[in-house]
Amino acid sequence: MASFKAKPMSRQDIRKMAKAIRLKCGLEGTHRVPVCSFFEWIMDKLFPNFEWEVVPDYTMSEEGVTFSGANKINIRQDVYVAACHGDGRARFTIMHEIGHFLLHGPSRVALCRLAPGESLRSFEDPEWQADTFAAEFLMDYDLIQGMNYIQISEECGVTYGAAKTRIGKLQGRWIM
Ligand SMILES: [Zn+2]
Repeated sequence: MASFKAKPMSRQDIRKMAKAIRLKCGLEGTHRVPVCSFFEWIMDKLFPNFEWEVVPDYTMSEEGVTFSGANKINIRQDVYVAACHGDGRARFTIMHEIGHFLLHGPSRVALCRLAPGESLRSFEDPEWQADTFAAEFLMDYDLIQGMNYIQISEECGVTYGAAKTRIGKLQGRWIM
C-alpha cells in the first residue's frame, strides 16, 4: 500500500515549533488563539508567498486541502464560517491544514510503498504530525497545565474530544 511518509518529527519538535510561532506572533500567553485572524493576516505576514482561499461548499468535499508545492490552503466555506464563529472542530481543521503547510513542503514528504504488514510510524505520518501541530498550537502545553478537559475546551476553543485526547497525552498514555 502506498502512503505519504514525512520526515520524522517528535511531539517535542512540533511543540517547539508551535511555541516559536506563538511567541513570534505575541500569542505566547493567549489561551484562545484567534484562528481566523491568524489564517487571514498573520500567515500572510509570516510567509509572504502564502495563499489561501475559502471555497464554496458545493465545489469541495474535503474540509480543507493544503497544496504544499503551491504554498496554498483551501478551506471549505462552511468550515471557515464555523471557525470564525468559534466552532472547535472547524478551528482545529484550519490549524491542521496550517500544520501541513508548515511541516510538509515538497522536500519533506515522499510517497512511499510500505512493505506487507508494515504501517507508518506515527512520528513520520503527515496526518499525525498535522494533528499534533494543531493540538500543540491551540492548547499550549504550559498554559493548560492543571486544567480539566472542560476548562481546556472552554478556554482554548476546542472540542471536548480534542481536549480529552490532549490530556491523555499530557498524562503520558501516548508518546509525549
Ligand atoms: Zn491532513
